[in-house]
Amino acid sequence: MNLIILGAPGSGKGTQAKLIAEKFGLLHISSGELLRQEVESGSEKGRLIGELQKKGELVPFETIIDVVLEPAFQKAKDGFILDGTPREIRQAEYLDWFLKEKKLHQIDKVIYLAIPPKVSLERLLRRAQTEDRPDDNRETILERLDVFEKETTPVIDFYHQKGILIEIDGTPDIQTILKDIVNRLSLA
Ligand code: ADP
Repeated sequence: MNLIILGAPGSGKGTQAKLIAEKFGLLHISSGELLRQEVESGSEKGRLIGELQKKGELVPFETIIDVVLEPAFQKAKDGFILDGTPREIRQAEYLDWFLKEKKLHQIDKVIYLAIPPKVSLERLLRRAQTEDRPDDNRETILERLDVFEKETTPVIDFYHQKGILIEIDGTPDIQTILKDIVNRLSLA
């Protein structure tokens, strides 16, 4: 089974992706994490990624191919959950082409964790007090929400039109959301 999980910043997609990966034995590919690892490596590419993440902007398309898609799919074969990518239409179109090219199965389902922007902001401001993510400050959070609205909402429509979108309410507690996702996947 090949899945994508998308949602606004703070929707809990990283948390759910981890749980779903464990439950179904899938490889968890988090673009945000892979990019942060590149930042930590201290490379020149990492420095540029870090600057963009700090501003809440998208990392260039070529970097996503280099740092996320190419290395992750060397390990993935089939059976993955892609967390946080695609974030703009051309990434979604590229991913379709890429999976065909590598003779991997296409995406079965796309989970969209829906939460209102107000909840995003509250959750991320709360997270800022316990975790040390340079992009969890008010100004950057508002920019990330804006980028999500402008760039990622069309990606959600793209998968909706393909008939593979599962929309999940991201506002209840972690276990309730997980149950909802598992139910919807088994109905599908
Ligand atoms: P969140 O969804 O809460 O913003 P992520 O860890 O998924 O957290 O992403 C953090 C940052 O990493 C984004 O704001 C963006 O700068 C960068 N990023 C992650 N995935 C992508 C992607 N597919 N394309 C471009 N930039 C990305």
